[in-house]
Amino acid sequence: MVFRPLLPLEAPSPAHICPLDQACSYLDQAARELKLNAGIIQILSNPTKVITVSVPIKRDNGEVQVLAGHRVQHSDILGPYKGGVRHHPAVTLREVSALAMLMTWKCALMGIPYGGAKGGIAINPKLYSVGELERITRRYTSELIKDIGPCVDIPAPDMGTSAREMAWMMDTYSIYEGHAVPGVVTGKPLSIGGSLGREMATGMGTMIIIREALADWGKSFNGTRIAIQGFGNVGGAAALLMHAAGAKIVAISTGAGGVFADNGLDIPALKAYADINGRSVVGFPEAKPISNAELLTLPCDVLVPAALENQINEDNVHQIQANIIAEAANGPVTLNASEVLEARGVTVLPDILTNAGGVVVSYLEWVQGLSYLFWDEERVNQEMEQLMVNAYRQVINESQERRISLRLAAYTLGVGRVAQALSDRGLYP
Ligand code: GLU
Repeated sequence: MVFRPLLPLEAPSPAHICPLDQACSYLDQAARELKLNAGIIQILSNPTKVITVSVPIKRDNGEVQVLAGHRVQHSDILGPYKGGVRHHPAVTLREVSALAMLMTWKCALMGIPYGGAKGGIAINPKLYSVGELERITRRYTSELIKDIGPCVDIPAPDMGTSAREMAWMMDTYSIYEGHAVPGVVTGKPLSIGGSLGREMATGMGTMIIIREALADWGKSFNGTRIAIQGFGNVGGAAALLMHAAGAKIVAISTGAGGVFADNGLDIPALKAYADINGRSVVGFPEAKPISNAELLTLPCDVLVPAALENQINEDNVHQIQANIIAEAANGPVTLNASEVLEARGVTVLPDILTNAGGVVVSYLEWVQGLSYLFWDEERVNQEMEQLMVNAYRQVINESQERRISLRLAAYTLGVGRVAQALSDRGLYP
């Protein structure tokens, strides 16, 4: 029996695969593997706190709009809650709850002393002015003022947010506290205690995990054909780094569509093109247009879904031709599709490992801030690399010892550590 959270949540849309159902099913699989007792599974299935606040703002035309702002705190067994704040039209409380749970396993897997959380507001940030976004972010922060803090819950950037929003959050929190509190968020601008290397961190972590997986197959980036869905903070950075390491990035797509070049795209030129074209790659010269759906089924060595959830699913899984799929996004391969791929011998590098570089460097930023010491980029990257490679090795060993998929191995490690801490701490009262 898969335990479901007891909380009142909106009904899942029947057209969509519910991310929370998937997250609970993964938890259940890991719990069975670990032979956890039902009490522990029930505790871990439920977020500790689900917060929805009303975020009223004045639009530039003078009208008032009220938005719903969510923050779900899944677990603080291992340390303060940690996780991004997302601005995306598809945000729901279910999705945020699922992503908060994934953060708990991700931090535990990486061996960093955090629990898991996630926040979000269902808006398309492109439809709001900078001033409106600032008012949204500040009001959201002030409504959550008692629920966040450097030892309580530490937000970070996620889809649709960046260092800019973190600066507004840090400033709002600091005004309430009466003094500067840089440790309340990570992914901040460098000027207020951000870390060198944070911007590229998720993409760099993805690159490291793919590099390790290729090495296990006796290969390197040299000449390896890679297709990437997404050219934002994660896909863009991973593309630049893997291209620089000698990989042939044959296709890249964004929401508007993609481009393909059999001999490999010139990634720095494509980045410069996207920067002046509203972040779209469509129309890039010397490349063929390709749809998002076509990109996923291209013949290539490595496929990197670095955009949205549920991109590889029952409808297209049989057409997937890549040998390695690196989940740079959260949940881009559905549970059923994962099983089909594993049965076919395709290596699926799971999200909680592949995209953990961001939260790892968030942790390094927090550590630097708490110790009032700032490291150079080389030191940050070295520390991150070590944590990523260690976690990768542990997942491979766990998978071989238990004869389970890499995803289940990552989950058993993450869930197992939280369950152990829970039973060592005991249940209050
Ligand atoms: N939003 C990123 C994630 O999902 C980073 C979270 C963080 O740095 O706290 O992993």
